[in-house]
Amino acid sequence: MKTSQATLDPADWQAFRLQGHRMLDDIFDHLQHLRDTPVWHPAPDVARTAFQHALPHGESDLSLAHDIFMREVLPYAAGNSHPGFMGWVHGGGTPVGMLAEMLAAGLNANLGGRNQMPVEVERQMVAWVRELFGFPETASGLLVTGTSMANFMGLLVARFAALGESSRPEGLTDGHRLTAYTSAGAHLSIAQALDMAGLGTAALRKIAVDEQHRMDVAALERAIAADRAAGLMPFFIAATAGTVDVGAIDPLEAIADLAQREQIWFHVDGAYAALGKMAPDIAPLLLGMERADSIAFDFHKWGQVPYDAGFLLVRDGELHRRTFSSPAAYLHRETRGLAGGSPWPCDFGPDLSRSFRALKTWFTLQVYGADKLGQVISHTCELARYLRGRIADTARLELLAPVALNIVCFRYLGADASGRALDDFSSDRLNAEILIAVQESGIAAPSGTHVKGRFAIRAAIVNHRTVAADIDALVDAVLATGAALEQGIHSKAEHGN
Ligand SMILES: *Cc1c(COP(=O)(O)O)cnc(C)c1O
Repeated sequence: MKTSQATLDPADWQAFRLQGHRMLDDIFDHLQHLRDTPVWHPAPDVARTAFQHALPHGESDLSLAHDIFMREVLPYAAGNSHPGFMGWVHGGGTPVGMLAEMLAAGLNANLGGRNQMPVEVERQMVAWVRELFGFPETASGLLVTGTSMANFMGLLVARFAALGESSRPEGLTDGHRLTAYTSAGAHLSIAQALDMAGLGTAALRKIAVDEQHRMDVAALERAIAADRAAGLMPFFIAATAGTVDVGAIDPLEAIADLAQREQIWFHVDGAYAALGKMAPDIAPLLLGMERADSIAFDFHKWGQVPYDAGFLLVRDGELHRRTFSSPAAYLHRETRGLAGGSPWPCDFGPDLSRSFRALKTWFTLQVYGADKLGQVISHTCELARYLRGRIADTARLELLAPVALNIVCFRYLGADASGRALDDFSSDRLNAEILIAVQESGIAAPSGTHVKGRFAIRAAIVNHRTVAADIDALVDAVLATGAALEQGIHSKAEHGN
């Protein structure tokens, strides 16, 4: 690209503008016609190889980089924008969020702090989140990369609350005694948080779950009592609102009661389901969450904000600030000038330089409104119930876990050549193959998991673009693939191997 003098700005803004509009048009076309493309298409080796180049030393045209992107990157993304994507818990993103992200990049704001309006945008987001979750004015919040980070930071605030101010200079002199609690269905990031916090994963008690995959509160109470009797310091309970495997919501009220009695920090990992607060039919299922000491969740899942946009909300904002704030000279505050407006977002987390995530999140709420986002959330749950119905009506399919929200775990019931049901081992293998074949077909992209030791095809319906026809396409693809693979097994058996 021809640049102007020594800067990185274009020499010819008019030509640059035209090229920019072409790029915008291309990505709009992509979003408008998502349905006409496969959900996912593995990048062929030629595309991977074609992409590899030595470090460029000279200038080249912006249009060339754009062409490479269109040809070698865009067609081979994971597909979570596509209505047929039901793998893991990925949000779909929106065109509004995309445009806001472009504006944020243009402004190039650093959200660490300082006296600037972008920080006010983040403060407005914090206020909206407080309002949504019924938290007091004194609660604090911070946009972060994702719930993994927010869980980690929540744990650090709880650790600070348990060990006190001296733990910052002195470290974890009493850390070996701290114990934490979560359910067996909790996300891996909870254990990882203990690891990273220097407490060790062995300090995490994984409490058994009931038939609905919810934490067994009586077992939690026993575990806490046993640890206290052994001279340990129970300090952190992480309940899950919407487990990643099956979408179960722990008994939040009962856990809140217990945490209050026991004086233990009550954290909620609400990564995707906390935003169910925006949906009138889901919100009652989340009762008790408003009593949490901290809530971690993502706007990039059910909230449909483009990646990444996680959030940590902490009831005691002062405790939150004292966990992270540092008195570095270059962070010196004034009451006026650019160094005004304390406290800054950087006082509430480990990041100093921070992206303007707040803008795409603010745009999403401002443009769509909480009610419409809530409707999208309700609709994904309705589609999950529809899928559950289709499974119930189909002899060849079996539901493997209760459908609490928007996640459906099921399997194809295969049979051998003489019509007998496959044993669990063969069934697991068959379903794992079905899953990959369906993903490779480009028709739908569910993911896999294990439910009570059985391999399950897992449809997590998160995307606002998904409709009933996409569910039908998934069911049809699983049935057709299952039948075809079974045929393969039978003919192999006939040939004696
Ligand atoms: C997705 C998820 C996480 C991790 O969130 P990231 O944003 O991917 O870091 C944690 N817990 C649960 C329950 C999740 O669904």
